[in-house]
Amino acid sequence: MSSRVTYVNGRYVPSREAVVSVEDRGNQFADAVYEACQIKDGAIIDLRRHLDRLDRSLAELRIAAPMSRAAMTHVLREVARRNRVQNGYVYWQISRGAAPRDHAFPVGVNPTFTATAKSLDVAAAALRYEKGVPVITLPDNRWERVDIKTVGLLPNALAKQAAREAGAFEAVFVDGEGFVTEGSSANVWLVDGEGRLVTRPADRGILRGITRSVLMEVAAAEGVPVVERRFTVAEMKAAREVFLTSAGAILCPVVSVDGETVANGAPGSVAAQLRRRFHELAERTPI
Ligand code: PMP
Repeated sequence: MSSRVTYVNGRYVPSREAVVSVEDRGNQFADAVYEACQIKDGAIIDLRRHLDRLDRSLAELRIAAPMSRAAMTHVLREVARRNRVQNGYVYWQISRGAAPRDHAFPVGVNPTFTATAKSLDVAAAALRYEKGVPVITLPDNRWERVDIKTVGLLPNALAKQAAREAGAFEAVFVDGEGFVTEGSSANVWLVDGEGRLVTRPADRGILRGITRSVLMEVAAAEGVPVVERRFTVAEMKAAREVFLTSAGAILCPVVSVDGETVANGAPGSVAAQLRRRFHELAERTPI
């Protein structure tokens, strides 16, 4: 479903009329950061943590925050409300601003702030969760600062397309040493032979997913041990369970890797247990 109302620099406008400059630095240099939160049953999920990560991304790129957190929260709720989204997501993006094209930072420009909200097909997501999804693996060809949530997502888009063309749902990136980094738009987890959750440390090579952080709290509450260490594609194929986490889907079981079936080819019980408890521990900001 398309978004009908878009927020652009202080105004809520019909999406068709929402415009930014051709010389916006987000457009020409991917000089922009973004966030996306799930909207579930009329509430924005884990907004505080997403705003914390946004502050960090902005600081890393030395882009000024366009407004206070309270004002931003108001805009995001308003965009969700005006689009009547009960289940879906809110997406917002801040670029360094519009200026005559020059690689170095312009002086005295205001950041460009846009936000949209969309409803998601709840039935399709439920089906993916029930059946699990296939993934493929690809060499990670992204830059080193993937910990910053920038809109420079061309490698991610190409990887997702490759997955699509291979009949898979997600592409999982693998670093030069043969260790899994993350999916094109999700973090990756496995359950090992001892029932421990394993996921890559978030110090290098991945985005520190908000869903990842909350899931660690859910695991702790459930008494499921979590080990942060790197793992290989072979380990993923031999795992008891594999799953993806992201704000959009929360938790999505993986049932095959490069065409090789994981375990018995059905979503696992640890994934189900964690997913069931997730929204009990996640924070809700009613729209
Ligand atoms: N890694 C990448 C590359 C992503 O795009 C996303 C989704 N934003 C994630 C991980 C998961 O992060 P989060 O749980 O904060 O959505």
